[in-house]
Amino acid sequence: MYRVNEIFFSLQGEGYHTGRAAVFVRLAGCNLRCPFCDTDFTHSEPMTARQIADAVFACSTHPDTLIVLTGGEPSLQADKELTDALHRHGQTIAIETNGTRPLPDGIDWVTVSPKADDTVAGKATEVVLDRADEVKVVLTEATEKLLPVWRSTILADHYYLQPCSCRNTDAVVTYIKAHPEWRLSLQTHKYIHIQ
Ligand code: SF4
Repeated sequence: MYRVNEIFFSLQGEGYHTGRAAVFVRLAGCNLRCPFCDTDFTHSEPMTARQIADAVFACSTHPDTLIVLTGGEPSLQADKELTDALHRHGQTIAIETNGTRPLPDGIDWVTVSPKADDTVAGKATEVVLDRADEVKVVLTEATEKLLPVWRSTILADHYYLQPCSCRNTDAVVTYIKAHPEWRLSLQTHKYIHIQ
């Protein structure tokens, strides 16, 4: 059984796949406690892989619909049984992870969102993944100092910098103008008021 917080059909609001139809599977629980976390991932209901897949495919079986495993930290629970069940219609399975844990087989798109270690100033939480499709960082005072580290230690095709809860967009723009290897990611779902 997996502890599932919610399953919902929307558009991917952030990062490379912004604007794509996506079914989100939010798995409960996280191994970090970020101060800016705005996700309520605590409550959950137990579901089998088959039940999760059925709920996802009730939303969409179109091959262009993305399936996004998110959390919390989805790698705490995601495994090959789940990715096998979710591949039934050939859709792309993406995961949004903090990068602190290894990933199961069967993930097609990896977004790593590394975090600062809030217990030690200037230190990053350990990232065990050295390769991702995209790196997406929420800009805070703590993460800004760590951006060069993540840029050089996590090999990715795309590097995105995102305002923190839509608040510090000016700081993100200023950083990207000085460091054009990063690109802007906005939480577009918040601007258009969708989930
Ligand atoms: S890693 Fe993500 S889900 Fe976990 S506490 Fe931090 S922001 Fe929240």
